[in-house]
Amino acid sequence: MIRQKIEEIVKQKYNKGLREATNEEIYITLLEIVKDMAEAAPRAEGKKKLYYISAEFLIGKLLSNNLINLGIYDEVSAFLEENGKSLAAIEEIEPEPSLGNGGLGRLAACFLDSIATLGLAGDGIGLNYHMGLFKQLFDENRQKEVPNPWIDSESWLTDAGVSFEVPFREFTLKSKLYDIDVTGYEGVTNKLHLFDVETVDDSIIKEGISFDKKDIAHNLTLFLYPDDSDKAGNLLRIYQQYFMVSNAAQYILKECDDKGISLRNLHEHVAIQINDTHPSMVIPELIRLLVQRKIDFNEAVEIVQKTCAYTNHTILAEALEKWPLDYLEQVAPQIVPIIKELDLRVKGRYQDERVYIIDKDNRVHMAHMDIHYGYSVNGVAHLHTEILKNEELKPFYDIYPQKFNNKTNGITFRRWLLHCNKELTAMLDSLIGPDYRKDAGKLEGLLGYIEDENVLRRLLEMKHVKKQELASYLKQTQGIDINPDSIYDIQSKRLHEYKRQQMNTLYVIYKYLEIKSGKKPARPITVIFGAKAAPAYIIAKDIIHLVLCLQQLVQNDPDVAPYLNVVMVENYNVTLAEKMMPACDISEQISLASKEASGTGNMKFMLNGAVTLGTEDGANVEIHQLVGDENIYIFGKSSEEVIAHYRNSDYRAVDYYIEDDEIRRLVDFIISPQMLRIGDPYLLLELHAELIRKDWFMTLLDVKEYIQKKEQMFADYENRTEWAKKMLVNIAKAGYFSSDRTIAEYNRDIWKL
Ligand SMILES: *Cc1c(COP(=O)(O)O)cnc(C)c1O
Repeated sequence: MIRQKIEEIVKQKYNKGLREATNEEIYITLLEIVKDMAEAAPRAEGKKKLYYISAEFLIGKLLSNNLINLGIYDEVSAFLEENGKSLAAIEEIEPEPSLGNGGLGRLAACFLDSIATLGLAGDGIGLNYHMGLFKQLFDENRQKEVPNPWIDSESWLTDAGVSFEVPFREFTLKSKLYDIDVTGYEGVTNKLHLFDVETVDDSIIKEGISFDKKDIAHNLTLFLYPDDSDKAGNLLRIYQQYFMVSNAAQYILKECDDKGISLRNLHEHVAIQINDTHPSMVIPELIRLLVQRKIDFNEAVEIVQKTCAYTNHTILAEALEKWPLDYLEQVAPQIVPIIKELDLRVKGRYQDERVYIIDKDNRVHMAHMDIHYGYSVNGVAHLHTEILKNEELKPFYDIYPQKFNNKTNGITFRRWLLHCNKELTAMLDSLIGPDYRKDAGKLEGLLGYIEDENVLRRLLEMKHVKKQELASYLKQTQGIDINPDSIYDIQSKRLHEYKRQQMNTLYVIYKYLEIKSGKKPARPITVIFGAKAAPAYIIAKDIIHLVLCLQQLVQNDPDVAPYLNVVMVENYNVTLAEKMMPACDISEQISLASKEASGTGNMKFMLNGAVTLGTEDGANVEIHQLVGDENIYIFGKSSEEVIAHYRNSDYRAVDYYIEDDEIRRLVDFIISPQMLRIGDPYLLLELHAELIRKDWFMTLLDVKEYIQKKEQMFADYENRTEWAKKMLVNIAKAGYFSSDRTIAEYNRDIWKL
């Protein structure tokens, strides 16, 4: 059937046989077939439906994933091969949708996959950013940002024929809805709804990613996270957020109307998950719309309170949004009286100003509104939720203990195993059968092979194949040379000081100096970075500069290059992640304890047989518990110690710098003559000063133990059989981190669909 269909469409569209068709033509053919099949797949049934509202959906390329979920991947792949075509090459044609930034957006994408796989009724709602986040280029060892247009004339988007009016203070904008089908693995088809404005105009983009931030009708859905370092940028973000939630609320009410649901019973039919605080304005907006429909204000508040649930993703204070009330007034004055009333009710009930929605500086704490006027608050890993309850959100936990719950993050195994690692998938199928695909806990069956030399050898072979593949992919796409026989030590994630890429660079400096002094490693080491820095985050960009300068230094030093390589891949995204995770030996998860809410990169690496080098932070804690001390390398101060340092303000980086000769030697290398020759002295000096004077995320606190652990790891790597056992245990224990498990828990405890 599918074979016939492919041939038919190629013939009809291009008047060619399959052998003569180009990869592009075949891609468009498959796009059409998949869209039709997704449309024809069953829909979820049930009384209640979930709406997952998120500013980001980092969905990645969709062709392969959809072919897998629809159960036709193998057949399509074989058929193309018979006709001299390669599905892998055709996948390269597809542009990656750039609708997210990092973990939070990728989580939303994994969740949509699992919701549809479990057969639940649940749609995503977000915005259709035409230029995405940005595309990262490197120029003179610096990050440069350029637009990342991803919407071709043929794409996964379909015009849904839906439009709403969104009222702002000074004008009204009409929205236009585009949908993307979300196919579940042997499951149902749900939708991702992406709202847009017809008037958006990319010709207003000037140099790089700059544009007139005040030209709302033309810029509203151009970029995700436009620069908010000035007032116009802040206002634009509020315009985007309000546009997103007003459309979401109108869409939800329209679906209820279509189904004949009485809005008084909304919570019996609808659950709204607020992913981080970007969609928080859905609370006052929904109240506004209910009141408009003649529901009494008090009742509207009650209805919304029983419908909305909030997920917290961070304890970094600067990431918890607080919008000045007068900014909201300038953008969407109609919700301001509602927010004020919600705040007054809180102030009438509680004396503690830490739980107020509007603070004494007239700033609106979006998370506070979510907690008071939603029915559930969840953290995203066990440790994170405990810190929320006992530290960050303690005053709220004291009031509403029943609202707080943990949902440890997960990843979809369809993308992060079945799609990205066909070799491991085939091996698992042959050893433990295919049941783990739908019941990830079954991966534990692999533990039965821990003494099987043949299986251990096959694991090492699988890893080597994936390392070769990454090497040739990086060579082809970015001109990067890496040695597949070296150890791949990978840190790929957004660039942020709390994630401590800078600590990893201090290791690189350490190793460079060791090799220079004649101490050669047993095996060459390749340290790979992948990271985008927010365009206005100066120190993060300085760290990228440092990595790129070290890369140049190391690669051009004939004493060192045979033993050590440093590589920063350009424009780290889902497509690159899919190639990097399976190829990794050592997974760097080295955030300052207490700062990484969960992490999901850690789970992807583990599932593909990498061994973690990490702090007791986020979901690393749970990985540690699952695999045991023998199969993970843990270092660094505990979250309790770190939190105590912050409480007592007694961490002083400069003391470590002055008192420890080794630390001083590594830090000072940043401004050594050879580095200043390669890099921009201003940037390197700025970073050097930051590390000594501030080091807010305590790099120097953990750096020595980090270096020690990593050296231990490289030594242990040489016992290949023992290392393969560690790989095996990590894979076998990764089942807990399937997003199918996470979603089943959300449904059991929060949504009750
Ligand atoms: C998984 C993923 C992330 C999140 O990585 P963390 O290490 O959890 O921060 C970020 N970006 C991409 C492209 C990913 O696939």
